[in-house]
Amino acid sequence: MKKFGFLVLLFVFGFVFPGYSHAAADTKIILDGTEIVQPSGAKAENINSKVMVPIRVVSESLGYSVDWKQQSQTVTISKDNTAMQMIVGQKTATVNGSNVDLDAPPLVKNGTTLVPLRFIGEQMGLKVGWNNTTKTVTLVTQNSGSGNGTTTPPSSNNGGGSDQEGLVLVNGISFSDNRLMIATSGSTKPNVFTMTGPDRIVIDLPNTAFADSFGQGQALDSNQNGQLVVNGYPDVSQIRYSLFSNSPSTIRFVIDLTGSKGYSVQNDSGLIMIDLNNQNGTPTTPVGNNGKKVVVIDAGHGDQDPGAIGVTGKREKDFNLAMALKVEALLKKEPKIDVVLTRSDDTFLALKERVKVAQNINADIFISIHANSGPVAASGVETYYSRSVSKELANIMHKYLVQTSGLKDRGVKMASLHVTRETTMPAVLLEGGFLSNKSDEAVLFTENFQNNVAKGIVAGIKEYLGIQ
Ligand SMILES: [Zn+2]
Repeated sequence: MKKFGFLVLLFVFGFVFPGYSHAAADTKIILDGTEIVQPSGAKAENINSKVMVPIRVVSESLGYSVDWKQQSQTVTISKDNTAMQMIVGQKTATVNGSNVDLDAPPLVKNGTTLVPLRFIGEQMGLKVGWNNTTKTVTLVTQNSGSGNGTTTPPSSNNGGGSDQEGLVLVNGISFSDNRLMIATSGSTKPNVFTMTGPDRIVIDLPNTAFADSFGQGQALDSNQNGQLVVNGYPDVSQIRYSLFSNSPSTIRFVIDLTGSKGYSVQNDSGLIMIDLNNQNGTPTTPVGNNGKKVVVIDAGHGDQDPGAIGVTGKREKDFNLAMALKVEALLKKEPKIDVVLTRSDDTFLALKERVKVAQNINADIFISIHANSGPVAASGVETYYSRSVSKELANIMHKYLVQTSGLKDRGVKMASLHVTRETTMPAVLLEGGFLSNKSDEAVLFTENFQNNVAKGIVAGIKEYLGIQ
């Protein structure tokens, strides 16, 4: 009886103060420290672990204009020379005429269109975060301009309830070619030292915190600990990371070694690299010295972003990674080439972080690997570039892609894609076939196809760089 009376009381309480019972579920959007007023019937919401936000209020707060076409269920967002188009229920958006995969299709709720938060972040150049406990979306505008020079920590001195105020955020990590790369939102002075029993390298980053997006890309438990599984590197058994201290907030990375190992540290604004390619402990020369050419291989998508989904459910991110690892293995045998992967496992980096990797290590060329999606009949390979300086690389790479894939030649195309546009070295994006096409999808996931195309990519790189 007692129990029942309690339930009745709760019910009455909830009924009399309806606002109270909803309060906990209400989400907030904080843009640069200020809350955006959301439409009452359609606030930001976590739907199937994708955070969806009302597109109109967010875009308009950022100075974009928003146009909604009821008949075609199309929302168009534009500002300066950027135009983005999304259709309700469709997982592909268009950005300046190029297709971009969405985490989840836009949906309409009480007359308001909700779109994935990640898309907003990437396409509008925002740092985005989602606090699932406080149900708060944070949006931080990046410094405008070229992004060179010193970077300030992600706002904001004007409050906003974030516990990450004034801290540099750790956005992502990757391990490739015996190098640990840590992408951050700004400058931090890493304190790097070794410890023994067992041997390990410790990297402390003072005044840092994990970006909310870090937890989406890498595993973080409730105590902010996690690890990156490292395979195929004899010197390294694993890489761990944790929020080591709360005051000052310090993130610690630990590279667990199989024995004593030298290293060098490179610290550019926004990218820290711990390089183990060094047997004697003296600082190594930076990547690409000794006349070596630096090639960045970028496996598209990753982790919660699967990219295109094939007719039988195969995921683009897996194809891209498998290809990147095969290309890496071949390039490692080339004495005149240093290869760096933007991701070496099923992890996620934002497009701008992929660009940052290539920019900060002064890559000679950048090659992004993807697979396509389109009408069921569409089949074949395409190569994209955005700047004229990349055209020759595109032509050469495409020649080998057509040859080694054996798929239909759909040509070399110019398009404004983020990674090929924002990089400054010759950069191309390869579309290795259509996952939406049954026969393309089947062949793309065969070892034979992947090995052949990997050889083709390496042959193209060598031809372009003039390496015998
Ligand atoms: Zn893709």
